[in-house]
Amino acid sequence: MNIIIFGPPGAGKGTQSDFIVKKFNLFKLSTGDLLREEINKKTTLGIKIKSIVNSGSLVSDELINSLIEKIVSNINYKNRIIFDGYPRNLSQAENLNKLLLKYEQKIDLVVRLKVSLDVIKKRITGRIVCSKCGKIYNEFFNPPKDEHKCCQKDFLKKRDDDNVDVAIKRYETYEKSTEPVLDYYNKMNLVKNVNGEAKIDVICSEIISFLNIIEA
Ligand code: ADP
Ligand code: ZN
Repeated sequence: MNIIIFGPPGAGKGTQSDFIVKKFNLFKLSTGDLLREEINKKTTLGIKIKSIVNSGSLVSDELINSLIEKIVSNINYKNRIIFDGYPRNLSQAENLNKLLLKYEQKIDLVVRLKVSLDVIKKRITGRIVCSKCGKIYNEFFNPPKDEHKCCQKDFLKKRDDDNVDVAIKRYETYEKSTEPVLDYYNKMNLVKNVNGEAKIDVICSEIISFLNIIEA
């Protein structure tokens, strides 16, 4: 199965997809992570991407589409992709549809995490990520626990773009460009709404129950 995890920045998409990837042996395609990898490599492209991302805007569709095709065309990932943070606008959604057709695949489910801007501000300002293993934590809601030996203080980093002002700008971009994507998938009857303000494990079980139905 291929699924999309959908919601505003800070909704918990990364947190949830990390659980689901393990449980269902999926491949997580996070355009945010792919872009940040490019930024960290400090290539000319990476530097250009950095200024766009840090202003809260979206990078060009062509660039994103070429990153996506590399993954969708890879036979190792066929029918086991979880799209996290993509598609971000209608043209990306249409492009994804074309690509999936080309490689004889489809989207089976869109999980939509619904979260208000107030909650998002708190989540984003508290977000910390382990630079070694990529695990996502939150200073306030989900602090690192001692049993995770990997994620020691030196590795726990805030993202450059995680501050309140950028969070608000990203949320506005989401409402304007990304929410219309929901109608696109609603018309295809693929969307399941989930209360993204619930506890992490509650949300996770709900998503797992949807996926079990698809797999059955
Ligand atoms: P996204 O991938 O949608 O941008 P993340 O998964 O990175 O969101 O989560 C954003 C922040 O909110 C992280 O700090 C994460 O630990 C925290 N978080 C995620 N889900 C929840 C939840 N259900 N309750 C409280 N905090 C959460
Ligand atoms: Zn770690």
